[in-house]
Amino acid sequence: MNKYWSLLTKKLSPYEPGEQPQDRKYLKLNTNENPFPPSEEVLSKIRGSVSDSLRLYPDPNSTKLKSAIANYYDLDINNIFVGNGSDEILAFSFLAFFKDKNPISFPNVTYSFYPVYCNLFEIGFNTFPLDCNFSIDIEKIDTNSGGIIFPNPNAPTGVYFGLSGIEEILNKFPDIMLIVDEAYIDFGGASCIELIEKYNNLLVIQTFSKSRSLAGMRVGFAIGHPNLIMALNRVKNSFNSYPLDTIAIEGAIGAIEDNDYFVTCCSQIVEARKYLSNELEKMSFHVLPSKANFLFVNHPKLDAASIYRKLKESGILVRHFNNPIIDNFLRITIGKKEEMILLVKSIKSITGVDHV
Ligand SMILES: *Cc1c(COP(=O)(O)O)cnc(C)c1O
Repeated sequence: MNKYWSLLTKKLSPYEPGEQPQDRKYLKLNTNENPFPPSEEVLSKIRGSVSDSLRLYPDPNSTKLKSAIANYYDLDINNIFVGNGSDEILAFSFLAFFKDKNPISFPNVTYSFYPVYCNLFEIGFNTFPLDCNFSIDIEKIDTNSGGIIFPNPNAPTGVYFGLSGIEEILNKFPDIMLIVDEAYIDFGGASCIELIEKYNNLLVIQTFSKSRSLAGMRVGFAIGHPNLIMALNRVKNSFNSYPLDTIAIEGAIGAIEDNDYFVTCCSQIVEARKYLSNELEKMSFHVLPSKANFLFVNHPKLDAASIYRKLKESGILVRHFNNPIIDNFLRITIGKKEEMILLVKSIKSITGVDHV
Protein backbone atom coordinates (compact mmCIF):
# COMPACT_ATOMS: atom_id res chain seq x y z
CA MET A 1 0.00 0.00 0.00
CA ASN A 2 1.23 3.44 -0.90
CA LYS A 3 2.02 5.68 2.08
CA TYR A 4 0.37 8.63 0.34
CA TRP A 5 -2.97 6.86 0.15
CA SER A 6 -5.70 7.96 2.54
CA LEU A 7 -7.18 5.40 4.90
CA LEU A 8 -10.38 5.47 2.85
CA THR A 9 -8.48 4.80 -0.39
CA LYS A 10 -6.82 1.77 1.19
CA LYS A 11 -10.23 0.37 2.15
CA LEU A 12 -11.81 0.66 -1.31
CA SER A 13 -12.66 -2.36 -3.42
CA PRO A 14 -13.65 -0.85 -6.77
CA TYR A 15 -16.22 -2.19 -9.22
CA GLU A 16 -14.86 -4.34 -12.03
CA PRO A 17 -16.64 -3.69 -15.32
CA GLY A 18 -16.98 -6.46 -17.91
CA GLU A 19 -13.95 -6.94 -20.15
CA GLN A 20 -13.42 -4.54 -23.05
CA PRO A 21 -10.47 -6.40 -24.60
CA GLN A 22 -8.45 -4.62 -27.28
CA ASP A 23 -6.35 -7.62 -28.41
CA ARG A 24 -8.75 -9.01 -31.02
CA LYS A 25 -12.25 -8.52 -32.30
CA TYR A 26 -14.79 -10.42 -30.20
CA LEU A 27 -18.51 -10.88 -30.51
CA LYS A 28 -19.22 -8.94 -27.32
CA LEU A 29 -22.09 -10.44 -25.37
CA ASN A 30 -20.67 -9.52 -21.96
CA THR A 31 -21.61 -5.92 -21.07
CA ASN A 32 -25.21 -5.58 -22.28
CA GLU A 33 -24.41 -3.06 -24.98
CA ASN A 34 -26.96 -2.61 -27.76
CA PRO A 35 -26.08 -4.50 -30.97
CA PHE A 36 -27.67 -1.73 -33.05
CA PRO A 37 -25.79 1.53 -33.66
CA PRO A 38 -27.20 4.95 -32.78
CA SER A 39 -29.63 6.03 -35.51
CA GLU A 40 -28.62 8.31 -38.39
CA GLU A 41 -30.62 11.10 -36.79
CA VAL A 42 -28.63 10.74 -33.56
CA LEU A 43 -25.29 10.59 -35.39
CA SER A 44 -26.12 13.68 -37.40
CA LYS A 45 -27.07 15.59 -34.25
CA ILE A 46 -23.76 14.52 -32.73
CA ARG A 47 -21.83 15.59 -35.84
CA GLY A 48 -23.69 18.90 -35.80
CA SER A 49 -22.57 19.55 -32.24
CA VAL A 50 -18.89 19.20 -33.19
CA SER A 51 -18.28 22.84 -34.01
CA ASP A 52 -16.59 26.07 -32.92
CA SER A 53 -19.03 26.28 -30.03
CA LEU A 54 -17.09 23.51 -28.25
CA ARG A 55 -14.88 26.30 -26.88
CA LEU A 56 -17.84 27.19 -24.63
CA TYR A 57 -18.91 25.30 -21.52
CA PRO A 58 -22.11 23.31 -21.98
CA ASP A 59 -25.41 24.34 -20.38
CA PRO A 60 -24.79 23.35 -16.72
CA ASN A 61 -28.46 22.37 -16.36
CA SER A 62 -28.79 20.42 -19.64
CA THR A 63 -32.18 22.12 -19.96
CA LYS A 64 -32.88 21.09 -23.56
CA LEU A 65 -32.26 17.43 -22.77
CA LYS A 66 -34.38 17.58 -19.62
CA SER A 67 -37.21 19.13 -21.65
CA ALA A 68 -36.97 16.35 -24.25
CA ILE A 69 -37.17 13.70 -21.51
CA ALA A 70 -39.99 15.53 -19.67
CA ASN A 71 -41.88 15.78 -22.94
CA TYR A 72 -41.38 12.08 -23.70
CA TYR A 73 -42.77 11.00 -20.31
CA ASP A 74 -45.34 13.81 -20.07
CA LEU A 75 -43.76 15.18 -16.89
CA ASP A 76 -42.45 18.53 -15.69
CA ILE A 77 -38.81 19.47 -16.19
CA ASN A 78 -38.55 19.70 -12.37
CA ASN A 79 -39.09 15.94 -12.23
CA ILE A 80 -35.94 15.25 -14.26
CA PHE A 81 -32.26 14.97 -13.37
CA VAL A 82 -29.58 14.06 -15.91
CA GLY A 83 -26.06 12.78 -15.31
CA ASN A 84 -22.89 11.36 -16.80
CA GLY A 85 -24.22 7.82 -17.09
CA SER A 86 -26.66 6.36 -14.59
CA ASP A 87 -23.70 5.13 -12.54
CA GLU A 88 -22.95 8.76 -11.68
CA ILE A 89 -26.60 9.36 -10.77
CA LEU A 90 -26.54 6.27 -8.57
CA ALA A 91 -23.46 7.64 -6.81
CA PHE A 92 -25.14 11.04 -6.28
CA SER A 93 -28.29 9.29 -5.03
CA PHE A 94 -26.38 7.25 -2.46
CA LEU A 95 -24.93 10.51 -1.12
CA ALA A 96 -28.19 12.44 -1.31
CA PHE A 97 -30.52 9.82 0.19
CA PHE A 98 -28.66 6.94 1.81
CA LYS A 99 -25.93 8.56 3.90
CA ASP A 100 -26.27 9.01 7.68
CA LYS A 101 -29.17 6.62 8.13
CA ASN A 102 -29.71 3.01 9.13
CA PRO A 103 -28.02 0.49 6.85
CA ILE A 104 -29.67 0.39 3.44
CA SER A 105 -30.95 -2.79 1.80
CA PHE A 106 -30.56 -4.46 -1.59
CA PRO A 107 -30.91 -8.04 -2.87
CA ASN A 108 -28.13 -10.59 -2.24
CA VAL A 109 -27.83 -11.03 -6.01
CA THR A 110 -27.78 -7.64 -7.72
CA TYR A 111 -25.76 -4.94 -9.46
CA SER A 112 -22.33 -5.15 -7.86
CA PHE A 113 -21.80 -1.39 -7.95
CA TYR A 114 -24.16 -0.88 -4.97
CA PRO A 115 -21.80 -2.26 -2.29
CA VAL A 116 -18.95 -0.34 -3.96
CA TYR A 117 -20.76 2.99 -3.46
CA CYS A 118 -21.57 2.02 0.14
CA ASN A 119 -17.89 1.37 0.66
CA LEU A 120 -16.84 4.68 -0.92
CA PHE A 121 -19.39 6.79 0.97
CA GLU A 122 -19.17 4.76 4.21
CA ILE A 123 -22.84 3.78 4.13
CA GLY A 124 -23.87 0.58 5.93
CA PHE A 125 -25.87 -2.04 4.05
CA ASN A 126 -27.55 -5.38 4.46
CA THR A 127 -28.79 -7.72 1.75
CA PHE A 128 -32.08 -9.59 1.56
CA PRO A 129 -32.17 -13.07 0.03
CA LEU A 130 -34.07 -13.54 -3.22
CA ASP A 131 -36.43 -16.52 -3.33
CA CYS A 132 -35.66 -19.73 -5.25
CA ASN A 133 -36.85 -18.07 -8.49
CA PHE A 134 -34.52 -15.10 -7.91
CA SER A 135 -37.57 -12.95 -7.19
CA ILE A 136 -37.94 -10.35 -4.42
CA ASP A 137 -39.69 -11.47 -1.23
CA ILE A 138 -40.81 -8.26 0.53
CA GLU A 139 -40.99 -10.08 3.86
CA LYS A 140 -37.21 -10.54 3.72
CA ILE A 141 -36.39 -6.81 3.61
CA ASP A 142 -35.08 -5.48 6.94
CA THR A 143 -37.97 -3.55 8.55
CA ASN A 144 -35.47 -1.02 9.97
CA SER A 145 -33.87 -0.41 6.61
CA GLY A 146 -32.51 3.09 5.94
CA GLY A 147 -33.31 2.88 2.22
CA ILE A 148 -33.93 0.30 -0.50
CA ILE A 149 -32.46 -0.06 -3.98
CA PHE A 150 -32.68 -2.69 -6.70
CA PRO A 151 -32.57 -2.85 -10.47
CA ASN A 152 -35.83 -3.73 -12.23
CA PRO A 153 -35.43 -6.00 -14.14
CA ASN A 154 -32.75 -7.19 -11.75
CA ALA A 155 -29.15 -7.52 -12.84
CA PRO A 156 -27.62 -9.95 -13.56
CA THR A 157 -30.72 -12.18 -13.47
CA GLY A 158 -33.08 -10.29 -15.83
CA VAL A 159 -35.99 -11.13 -13.50
CA TYR A 160 -38.72 -8.47 -13.50
CA PHE A 161 -40.66 -7.36 -10.43
CA GLY A 162 -44.19 -6.07 -11.14
CA LEU A 163 -45.57 -2.64 -10.25
CA SER A 164 -47.95 -4.04 -7.62
CA GLY A 165 -44.92 -5.39 -5.73
CA ILE A 166 -43.21 -2.01 -5.97
CA GLU A 167 -46.30 -0.29 -4.58
CA GLU A 168 -46.41 -2.83 -1.79
CA ILE A 169 -42.84 -1.88 -0.83
CA LEU A 170 -43.68 1.83 -1.02
CA ASN A 171 -46.69 1.33 1.26
CA LYS A 172 -44.75 -0.80 3.71
CA PHE A 173 -41.77 1.63 3.84
CA PRO A 174 -43.30 5.14 3.50
CA ASP A 175 -40.52 6.87 5.48
CA ILE A 176 -37.44 5.75 3.53
CA MET A 177 -36.30 6.18 -0.06
CA LEU A 178 -36.86 3.50 -2.67
CA ILE A 179 -34.59 3.76 -5.72
CA VAL A 180 -35.53 1.62 -8.71
CA ASP A 181 -32.69 1.26 -11.21
CA GLU A 182 -34.49 0.76 -14.53
CA ALA A 183 -31.40 0.27 -16.72
CA TYR A 184 -33.20 -2.55 -18.62
CA ILE A 185 -36.85 -1.49 -18.39
CA ASP A 186 -37.33 -0.88 -22.13
CA PHE A 187 -36.98 -4.56 -23.03
CA GLY A 188 -40.46 -5.63 -21.91
CA GLY A 189 -41.11 -4.43 -18.34
CA ALA A 190 -43.47 -1.64 -17.29
CA SER A 191 -41.71 1.38 -15.79
CA CYS A 192 -42.70 2.57 -12.31
CA ILE A 193 -42.35 6.20 -13.43
CA GLU A 194 -46.15 6.42 -13.24
CA LEU A 195 -45.89 5.97 -9.45
CA ILE A 196 -43.78 9.07 -8.78
CA GLU A 197 -46.84 11.35 -8.63
CA LYS A 198 -48.24 9.25 -5.81
CA TYR A 199 -45.04 8.46 -3.88
CA ASN A 200 -42.58 11.25 -3.11
CA ASN A 201 -40.01 8.74 -1.78
CA LEU A 202 -39.57 6.96 -5.14
CA LEU A 203 -36.67 7.74 -7.48
CA VAL A 204 -36.49 6.00 -10.86
CA ILE A 205 -33.13 5.90 -12.67
CA GLN A 206 -32.69 5.05 -16.36
CA THR A 207 -29.82 5.10 -18.85
CA PHE A 208 -29.14 5.74 -22.54
CA SER A 209 -26.45 3.02 -22.47
CA LYS A 210 -28.59 -0.05 -23.12
CA SER A 211 -31.91 0.45 -24.92
CA ARG A 212 -30.79 3.71 -26.57
CA SER A 213 -27.47 2.49 -28.02
CA LEU A 214 -25.33 5.23 -26.44
CA ALA A 215 -23.10 3.44 -23.89
CA GLY A 216 -20.09 5.30 -25.29
CA MET A 217 -21.69 8.66 -24.66
CA ARG A 218 -22.42 8.34 -20.90
CA VAL A 219 -25.92 9.71 -20.33
CA GLY A 220 -28.40 8.70 -17.65
CA PHE A 221 -31.43 10.31 -16.05
CA ALA A 222 -33.50 10.15 -12.88
CA ILE A 223 -37.19 10.85 -12.41
CA GLY A 224 -38.93 11.72 -9.15
CA HIS A 225 -40.62 14.34 -7.00
CA PRO A 226 -39.09 17.84 -7.49
CA ASN A 227 -37.72 17.77 -3.91
CA LEU A 228 -35.71 14.64 -4.74
CA ILE A 229 -34.41 16.26 -7.93
CA MET A 230 -33.40 19.34 -5.93
CA ALA A 231 -31.40 17.13 -3.55
CA LEU A 232 -29.60 15.52 -6.50
CA ASN A 233 -28.82 18.96 -7.95
CA ARG A 234 -27.24 20.02 -4.66
CA VAL A 235 -24.96 17.00 -4.72
CA LYS A 236 -24.17 17.42 -8.42
CA ASN A 237 -23.33 21.10 -7.99
CA SER A 238 -21.03 20.23 -5.11
CA PHE A 239 -19.11 17.90 -7.41
CA ASN A 240 -19.16 18.98 -11.06
CA SER A 241 -21.16 21.79 -12.69
CA TYR A 242 -20.97 20.22 -16.16
CA PRO A 243 -21.38 16.44 -15.99
CA LEU A 244 -22.88 16.34 -19.49
CA ASP A 245 -20.84 17.70 -22.37
CA THR A 246 -22.29 19.52 -25.38
CA ILE A 247 -21.96 16.48 -27.65
CA ALA A 248 -23.64 14.10 -25.20
CA ILE A 249 -26.55 16.49 -24.67
CA GLU A 250 -27.22 16.65 -28.42
CA GLY A 251 -26.83 12.89 -28.96
CA ALA A 252 -29.22 12.11 -26.11
CA ILE A 253 -31.84 14.56 -27.39
CA GLY A 254 -31.65 12.82 -30.78
CA ALA A 255 -32.07 9.40 -29.15
CA ILE A 256 -35.19 10.50 -27.26
CA GLU A 257 -36.69 12.14 -30.33
CA ASP A 258 -36.08 9.24 -32.73
CA ASN A 259 -38.71 7.06 -31.11
CA ASP A 260 -39.47 4.80 -34.10
CA TYR A 261 -35.88 3.62 -34.35
CA PHE A 262 -35.76 2.98 -30.59
CA VAL A 263 -38.98 0.94 -30.66
CA THR A 264 -37.77 -1.11 -33.65
CA CYS A 265 -34.40 -1.92 -32.04
CA CYS A 266 -35.97 -2.90 -28.71
CA SER A 267 -38.49 -5.20 -30.37
CA GLN A 268 -35.78 -6.90 -32.44
CA ILE A 269 -33.82 -7.54 -29.26
CA VAL A 270 -36.91 -9.01 -27.59
CA GLU A 271 -37.37 -11.30 -30.65
CA ALA A 272 -33.73 -12.41 -30.55
CA ARG A 273 -34.08 -13.05 -26.79
CA LYS A 274 -37.02 -15.39 -27.45
CA TYR A 275 -35.03 -17.24 -30.09
CA LEU A 276 -31.95 -17.69 -27.88
CA SER A 277 -34.02 -18.68 -24.87
CA ASN A 278 -35.79 -21.42 -26.88
CA GLU A 279 -32.57 -22.75 -28.35
CA LEU A 280 -30.82 -22.89 -24.97
CA GLU A 281 -33.79 -24.65 -23.38
CA LYS A 282 -33.65 -27.26 -26.15
CA MET A 283 -30.06 -27.90 -25.02
CA SER A 284 -31.34 -28.39 -21.43
CA PHE A 285 -30.06 -25.06 -20.14
CA HIS A 286 -32.08 -23.53 -17.32
CA VAL A 287 -33.01 -20.02 -18.51
CA LEU A 288 -34.38 -17.50 -16.01
CA PRO A 289 -37.37 -15.54 -17.35
CA SER A 290 -35.85 -12.30 -18.62
CA LYS A 291 -37.29 -8.90 -19.40
CA ALA A 292 -33.80 -7.49 -20.02
CA ASN A 293 -31.40 -7.50 -23.00
CA PHE A 294 -29.59 -10.50 -21.54
CA LEU A 295 -30.29 -14.04 -20.36
CA PHE A 296 -29.05 -15.57 -17.13
CA VAL A 297 -28.57 -19.29 -17.65
CA ASN A 298 -27.05 -22.42 -16.17
CA HIS A 299 -26.84 -26.06 -17.16
CA PRO A 300 -27.33 -29.10 -14.93
CA LYS A 301 -24.31 -30.90 -16.38
CA LEU A 302 -21.98 -28.26 -17.79
CA ASP A 303 -19.61 -25.97 -15.91
CA ALA A 304 -20.32 -22.27 -16.52
CA ALA A 305 -16.71 -21.14 -16.08
CA SER A 306 -15.48 -23.61 -18.68
CA ILE A 307 -18.18 -22.62 -21.20
CA TYR A 308 -17.14 -19.01 -20.62
CA ARG A 309 -13.46 -19.84 -21.31
CA LYS A 310 -14.15 -21.92 -24.40
CA LEU A 311 -16.46 -19.31 -25.87
CA LYS A 312 -13.77 -16.70 -25.29
CA GLU A 313 -11.23 -18.85 -27.14
CA SER A 314 -13.68 -19.04 -30.03
CA GLY A 315 -14.07 -15.25 -30.06
CA ILE A 316 -17.33 -14.80 -28.11
CA LEU A 317 -17.39 -12.97 -24.79
CA VAL A 318 -20.10 -13.62 -22.23
CA ARG A 319 -20.09 -12.70 -18.53
CA HIS A 320 -19.27 -15.05 -15.68
CA PHE A 321 -19.42 -13.85 -12.05
CA ASN A 322 -17.31 -15.16 -9.19
CA ASN A 323 -20.03 -14.64 -6.55
CA PRO A 324 -20.53 -18.19 -5.11
CA ILE A 325 -24.36 -17.93 -5.28
CA ILE A 326 -24.26 -17.50 -9.05
CA ASP A 327 -20.91 -18.91 -10.17
CA ASN A 328 -22.54 -21.65 -12.17
CA PHE A 329 -24.48 -19.13 -14.25
CA LEU A 330 -23.58 -17.19 -17.37
CA ARG A 331 -25.03 -13.85 -18.33
CA ILE A 332 -25.40 -13.56 -22.09
CA THR A 333 -26.19 -10.23 -23.74
CA ILE A 334 -28.78 -10.40 -26.51
CA GLY A 335 -27.34 -9.37 -29.85
CA LYS A 336 -28.75 -9.40 -33.36
CA LYS A 337 -30.55 -12.57 -34.45
CA GLU A 338 -27.63 -13.67 -36.65
CA GLU A 339 -25.25 -13.24 -33.71
CA MET A 340 -27.50 -15.42 -31.57
CA ILE A 341 -27.49 -18.09 -34.29
CA LEU A 342 -23.67 -18.00 -34.27
CA LEU A 343 -23.63 -18.24 -30.46
CA VAL A 344 -25.93 -21.27 -30.46
CA LYS A 345 -23.67 -23.00 -33.01
CA SER A 346 -20.58 -22.27 -30.91
CA ILE A 347 -22.18 -23.53 -27.69
CA LYS A 348 -23.17 -26.74 -29.47
CA SER A 349 -19.71 -27.37 -30.84
CA ILE A 350 -18.00 -26.49 -27.54
CA THR A 351 -20.19 -28.58 -25.27
CA GLY A 352 -21.13 -31.37 -27.64
CA VAL A 353 -24.71 -30.84 -26.45
CA ASP A 354 -27.23 -30.85 -29.25
CA HIS A 355 -30.98 -30.70 -29.38
CA VAL A 356 -32.58 -33.39 -27.23
C1 LIG B 1 -25.53 -0.81 -17.09
C2 LIG B 1 -26.12 -0.54 -15.76
C3 LIG B 1 -26.06 0.72 -15.19
C4 LIG B 1 -25.11 1.77 -15.68
O1 LIG B 1 -25.46 2.42 -16.76
P1 LIG B 1 -24.62 3.67 -17.27
O2 LIG B 1 -25.69 4.63 -17.57
O3 LIG B 1 -23.90 3.18 -18.47
O4 LIG B 1 -23.70 4.15 -16.18
C5 LIG B 1 -26.75 0.96 -14.01
N1 LIG B 1 -27.44 -0.02 -13.40
C6 LIG B 1 -27.48 -1.27 -13.89
C7 LIG B 1 -28.25 -2.30 -13.17
C8 LIG B 1 -26.81 -1.56 -15.08
O5 LIG B 1 -26.80 -2.80 -15.54
